[in-house]
Amino acid sequence: MNPGDSTARDLLQAVEFAAHKHRDQRRKDIDASPYINHPIQVAEMIVRVGGVDDTATLMAAILHDTVEDTEATAEEIEEVFGPEVRDLVMEVTDDKSLPKPERKRLQMEHAPHMSERARLIKLADKTCNVRDIGRSPPADWDAERRAEYLAWAKSVVDGCRGTNAALERYFDECLAASADALGIPLPR
Ligand code: NDP
Ligand code: ZN
Repeated sequence: MNPGDSTARDLLQAVEFAAHKHRDQRRKDIDASPYINHPIQVAEMIVRVGGVDDTATLMAAILHDTVEDTEATAEEIEEVFGPEVRDLVMEVTDDKSLPKPERKRLQMEHAPHMSERARLIKLADKTCNVRDIGRSPPADWDAERRAEYLAWAKSVVDGCRGTNAALERYFDECLAASADALGIPLPR
């Protein structure tokens, strides 16, 4: 690698930062997978499925759950990664002072007004979670709760449409596969 290759360096710095912040966290699936697998999958999906290789978008994808789910702060993200990445991360971060149902409602309301790059992250994030609901769902969720999640994720994604056709098509495929695995009709 060329030492001047800032793309590789910046991306790996984001991976290292997120891995450290999420180091004690696990996903909710039965195997309690390492949390960091999820943001890595989100960023990888944006590149491979979405064909997007914008470095700030990929860094924000890697960092997308650090402020929401760890003690990382917006100020810290700005200090380490600059204002562009900070703004993107904060665009996809819920206001943690609000109750969960309100946060879920606001995600649906805000989706169409987000920047294009934030919508790419939202699309891949929801796609990963919907895929997880089909393959490795939260251990204690009954079928109704999983079905509710699929319907809500679709509402958020519907607000992001017109951003990246390949990612939106892949979300629809994952939604159909997860609905099928659950034996429920496709959410409308
Ligand atoms: P969430 O709906 O916030 O949990 C889902 C989130 O967990 C995902 O968005 C994802 O977020 C993360 N996650 C971690 N592991 C997995 C996995 N294996 N598969 C999919 N997602 C995963 O639920 P909470 O547990 O925080 O509960 C609060 C909300 O749930 C409230 O809005 C309440 O209304 C609702 N609720 C519904 C119930 C029901 O039976 N219908 C019962 C109780 C609560 P990320 O991408 O950020 O990691
Ligand atoms: Zn996420």
